[in-house]
Amino acid sequence: MSKSSPIFTCSTCGTVHKKWQGRCDGCGGWNTIVEDTPLSSGPKSLGAKGRSIPLTDLATEEAPPPRAGSGIDELDRVLGGGLVPASAILVGGDPGIGKSTLLLQATASFARKGLKCLYISGEEASAQVRMRAQRLGLAQAPVSLGAETNLRDILTTLDAERPDLAVIDSIQTMWLDTVEAAPGSVSQVRAAAHELVTFAKKRGVAVILVGHVTKEGQIAGPRVVEHMVDTVLYFEGERGHQFRILRAVKNRFGPADEIGVFEMTGGGLSQVTNPSALFLSSRDTPAPGSAVFAGIEGTRPVLTEIQALVAPSTLASPRRTVVGLDSGRVSTILAVLEARCGIPFTGLDVFLNVAGGLRVNEPAADLAVAGALLSAREDVAIPPDMVLFGEISLSGALRPVGQTENRLKEASKLGFQQATLPSRSKTSGAEDMKLREMADLTAFVGEMFGAG
Ligand SMILES: [Zn+2]
Repeated sequence: MSKSSPIFTCSTCGTVHKKWQGRCDGCGGWNTIVEDTPLSSGPKSLGAKGRSIPLTDLATEEAPPPRAGSGIDELDRVLGGGLVPASAILVGGDPGIGKSTLLLQATASFARKGLKCLYISGEEASAQVRMRAQRLGLAQAPVSLGAETNLRDILTTLDAERPDLAVIDSIQTMWLDTVEAAPGSVSQVRAAAHELVTFAKKRGVAVILVGHVTKEGQIAGPRVVEHMVDTVLYFEGERGHQFRILRAVKNRFGPADEIGVFEMTGGGLSQVTNPSALFLSSRDTPAPGSAVFAGIEGTRPVLTEIQALVAPSTLASPRRTVVGLDSGRVSTILAVLEARCGIPFTGLDVFLNVAGGLRVNEPAADLAVAGALLSAREDVAIPPDMVLFGEISLSGALRPVGQTENRLKEASKLGFQQATLPSRSKTSGAEDMKLREMADLTAFVGEMFGAG
């Protein structure tokens, strides 16, 4: 092996740097950059030995990939309609959030549907996995278990067994004897993922790689293998919270941004088929500072409650604590409220939160955020049977958003009777709801909270 000069790679996002530095330019993480051995660059010049590859034209009909459903609808939805054979899937998330529990349940469901399934754990002994399976009531499912971290042995086993699905828990524990680096390092994780993905394609085995999101240090995070796999799912939620959200951030076989909602129960994770009802279930009497946002997650409407608290601050620069929303977006809304509507938040602490632990990324949430902020500041409750949505532009104008009809339909289904939304929205089919269409934020403030 020839020694080449070292390179420095971020263990969180995989950005390559020429020299070591404290902060990664790629992801902004501190102390995430580690020394890495560069992969061999191969022979200097290619011989003339290549063979020509078959080419097709654009009109060639391609049948949609066959899919296997797990029977867990929320999981199948995130996968884009089920598991595609020979596909590679990455499931990332914080340690201890429930990835292994969900994947064991999923593997058992696929196995019960007739797929040959293998579960390889590099984290726990088979006995521990078996105990978890018993606790989850899955002991009878025809899943083959293995406890191993040596990838050469795992690939040999997979080649002999030829399962339909293999789960590798986790990619950070796997190591290849051909790579001179510790398990969990960027080069090991990358090489192991590459071997597994290549194997999946060649042998027609679907593989699911579990990846722990790491905060810093010597262990590579799942982001360094995102580009190698077909589908990337992230498991979101707080350890203490009961809800878990599985979000597709990349999917070659389905829509990205689709979510599946699960609830952590004593018997494992159970799917939540009507997330709107669940995210709103904790609402009691109408309180100032609360606004219901009619959002879209992936292909379906989801109603969530945006909560705000505004209180006099003792600090020179007041607090802006935002959970579940983009804080840059919130700052913009605060600035527009001040500049266009003359409602300042200077000297006030602002706390914003999405109930239930969901992350809302849509600009359509702007109006609900503004509504919650104003409601908290003015101490006036928004009518409990009202939903809000609409994008706020820097001029203070309200912009219509996509899928208005779907949002209204979902709100109506859950018993909401009025909606505040931008004018010029497409509202056909929402005759049963009272619609308050507004052109700009000033009109909204005037109508909802009085002219002043
Ligand atoms: Zn980085």
